[in-house]
Amino acid sequence: MKTVNDFNFKGKKALIRVDFNVPLNENLEVTDTSRIEAAKATIIKILEDGGSCVLMSHLGRPKENEAKFSLKNIVESVRDIMGVNVHFAGDCIGKMATEAVANCAPGEILLLENLRYHSEEIAGDRDFAEKLSKLGDIYVNDAFGTAHRAHASTAVIADFFPGQKCFGLLLASEIENINKVLGNSTRPVTAIIGGAKVSSKITIIENILEKIDHLIIAGGMAFTFVKAQGGKIGNSLVENDKLDLALDILKQAKAKGVEVHLPIDSVAADAFSEKANTKVEPIDAISDGWMGLDAGPATNAHFAAVVLGSKTILWNGPVGVFELSKFSNGTIALGQAITKATAEGCFSLVGGGDSVAAVKQFGFSDKVSYVSTGGGAMLEMLEGKILPGIQAISS
Ligand code: AMP
Repeated sequence: MKTVNDFNFKGKKALIRVDFNVPLNENLEVTDTSRIEAAKATIIKILEDGGSCVLMSHLGRPKENEAKFSLKNIVESVRDIMGVNVHFAGDCIGKMATEAVANCAPGEILLLENLRYHSEEIAGDRDFAEKLSKLGDIYVNDAFGTAHRAHASTAVIADFFPGQKCFGLLLASEIENINKVLGNSTRPVTAIIGGAKVSSKITIIENILEKIDHLIIAGGMAFTFVKAQGGKIGNSLVENDKLDLALDILKQAKAKGVEVHLPIDSVAADAFSEKANTKVEPIDAISDGWMGLDAGPATNAHFAAVVLGSKTILWNGPVGVFELSKFSNGTIALGQAITKATAEGCFSLVGGGDSVAAVKQFGFSDKVSYVSTGGGAMLEMLEGKILPGIQAISS
């Protein structure tokens, strides 16, 4: 796996695909700079070598060239974070881009306008990719968030850089950390799969069963498993068309020697609301009209014991409706157990949408081993797929 550390960028122009798809408020100010910070190590390495950085990214899903999706809005944030002057080109191809690249001196950064102002980007258009490729000497992909897309700038472009392409440090560390779970992991390995829907996690569960010792199934999706086994779940979330599948997953797990842990009890509520009345009930005896919205105390203790006995942990999906503080205790308790296990030497990887949000919200980000930056990309890797953006650099 070649990374930017395998190249000397002195006098070279690095064409870097970054993921600067950051959130902006109504004044078009960046409200969360994490994605820009995540690319810093790669950019600084290239600048310190004496190279220049030509940055390409998308922002949002523009239909036309709407100004609110212009990357011009983030120039100041990039400048503040990188600590050097940042030039901007009003288009990512054509004369404007070519001239701006020619004027970008060693030690400087040029940010190109939103790639998705051109529909050819998402279409993976080869001619468009070739035009982009003229803007640099070495192609670097550091955009894990879009590595699962076969777009022009994330995959197709790599063909135009034989021997002159590599991973950025963020993308390399994402791959390395996910492989610590999916590859040669230290046992026992525990996967915690929570969240709302079984249907969105089936492929992940099936792919990781070979690699794990314990599977914790939690959150709303646990009720499909509970109902499939004959439990009474009241009005809790369920996917009735997935009951057989749930039983099949339990069978597969057993055949592979994986110990499955379902919740024991639940905080049941009479409404999906912060003001709801609540009571703790056994997971398979939820009252009619009530719904389980968080893991109960017995569950929290059991999950913590499993976590503390693990050497490798993958956490994807919250164990309750953590967005409402009344139902956030289970997710917090699980986060605390994982951070304790991590402090005791366990490797813990958190990834995929809502669990990352939970980890950030409750202040666990620095206390787990790795928080993945790519939602969809991370999930597809866990599903066992080879991501186009990764393959394009590796081949
Ligand atoms: P997912 O995107 O599938 O990982 O699901 C995340 C969502 O699942 C979060 O918004 C949680 O609020 C929700 N969730 C977790 N537990 C439950 C539950 N017991 N009932 C309903 N929703 C839940």
